[in-house]
Amino acid sequence: MSRTDFGNYINGDWVDPSTGETFESRNPADRTQVLGSFAKSGAADVDRAVQAAVEAYPRWMSTPVPERADYLLRVALLLEERKEELSRIMTQEMGKTLKESRADVQEGIDFAHYMAGEGRRFFGNSIPAELPNKFYMTMRHPIGVVGLITPWNFPIAIPLWKIAPAMVAGCTSVFKPAEDTPLCAALLVDLFHEVGVPPGVVNLVNGMGEEAGAPLVDHPSVRAISFTGSLDVGRMINEKCARSMKRCSLELGSKNALIIMPDADLDLAVESAAWGAFATSGQRCTATSRLIVHDDVRPAFTDRLLERVSGMKVGNGLEPGIELAPVINEAQKNRVLEYISVGQQEGAKILHGGEEVTGDGLENGYFVAPTVFDEMTADMRIAREEIFGPVTGIMRVESVEEAVAIANGTDYGLSCAIYTHDITNVFKAVNQLEFGIVYVNAPTIGAEIQVPFGGMKNTGNGHREAGPQSLDEFTEWKTVGIDFSGKLQRAQMDQDDPSAS
Ligand code: NAD
Repeated sequence: MSRTDFGNYINGDWVDPSTGETFESRNPADRTQVLGSFAKSGAADVDRAVQAAVEAYPRWMSTPVPERADYLLRVALLLEERKEELSRIMTQEMGKTLKESRADVQEGIDFAHYMAGEGRRFFGNSIPAELPNKFYMTMRHPIGVVGLITPWNFPIAIPLWKIAPAMVAGCTSVFKPAEDTPLCAALLVDLFHEVGVPPGVVNLVNGMGEEAGAPLVDHPSVRAISFTGSLDVGRMINEKCARSMKRCSLELGSKNALIIMPDADLDLAVESAAWGAFATSGQRCTATSRLIVHDDVRPAFTDRLLERVSGMKVGNGLEPGIELAPVINEAQKNRVLEYISVGQQEGAKILHGGEEVTGDGLENGYFVAPTVFDEMTADMRIAREEIFGPVTGIMRVESVEEAVAIANGTDYGLSCAIYTHDITNVFKAVNQLEFGIVYVNAPTIGAEIQVPFGGMKNTGNGHREAGPQSLDEFTEWKTVGIDFSGKLQRAQMDQDDPSAS
């Protein structure tokens, strides 16, 4: 790795923050390892970055769409070259296992390729007019300067899910990444610099949420905010954007469920539960935090799950064979442990885990054992609130109807899966589940970039990322009507009036 210390990337240059302050990024598996030092920016830095984006906008929005998109192809190729290096850095910066970091970078590569292709489509429609000698078409128009605010759990993929469609759309952007993963963000933005993206098109401002994120949301020249993060921050951003009439797209938390019916392939369901609950230490917005299991198979499922989980190796994600890596930071570790104790107070029973893991070289990291609750019920906080850690709980049901009702019984709605081979149960679930993503015989985690991603209810506000829908976040639809009749034609009036011709 060549560079570890970064300022902000504004108007094509790396610049020091106006505050003169920096902050460190540390390895959650070993907090004594410092990965680098980064700009701790304030409102003046955000303003400088927004001004650069404002100045770059007219030229960028007039650049042919395939040309805009071609930069992404070059970013994708460069990311492929750097995949291993970046994946190792990602594991050190945010903790997840090396295999998962590689998948995160790969998702970024896939999406950059995909969006590069969208630049050759960027379709509108042609629509017949009701009046003669008149023609309609629709075309996308960029929304303007956009602010992109991201979390730390997918430090390459999620930023690309926003930067790439913004670029193709013709928007210029200011990107404010999470304070836990500033190095991944800086290295990603450096790729855009390397492939020659014009100054001001993509700008990076590192820093804390309230100091650097809030001024971006408040800035009058920013026309849209695309935010992925927690419900509390998302709600606040939504309120601010409503007042200033900014477009706002929110991808927030969830309380995802895996339903296991009596005819499920139990081995598969157990693997799916373990992977969905404990990959990325449960820190995925699609993590399986509720296991809704039919009574007929609950004892067998529980036994096999415990056997599987007790074999999980906890440790540094760079080491081979590790299945459970650290959680992101001390605050998150304490939050997860607090939820575990809330669950016990509420009457749920711990079958496995429930504590911090230390010793054997792990004493400087934030490790929590894979935790499985039994007797979790729908009214409990641990069944309703997002924990965002390696904690899942088993809930008992006696029918598919009850399973769907329990699955739907939270304020969130991102991802839900059902394991069954009964076609009736499949369609009942698919039709009635209030989730943006529903899987059948597949885990709740593992999104692919070509399909829309997003949730219902408090998980978001109706927008979708990934897939072709991701362009909707960053464009307005423009309707163009062209009248070549050479006379005034009045809609809904003249076509009924023979004397008008
Ligand atoms: P977070 O809300 O604490 O922070 C997210 C981003 O918002 C960070 O960049 C942070 O600096 C910034 N921020 C914080 N306060 C701000 C403010 N007042 N104004 C503007 N920006 C501010 O979330 P997190 O801990 O980084 O991420 C975890 C959350 O993200 C979980 O709830 C998870 O479910 C959610 N998430 C959702 C998706 C999805 O697509 N639905 C994907 C990944 C993560």
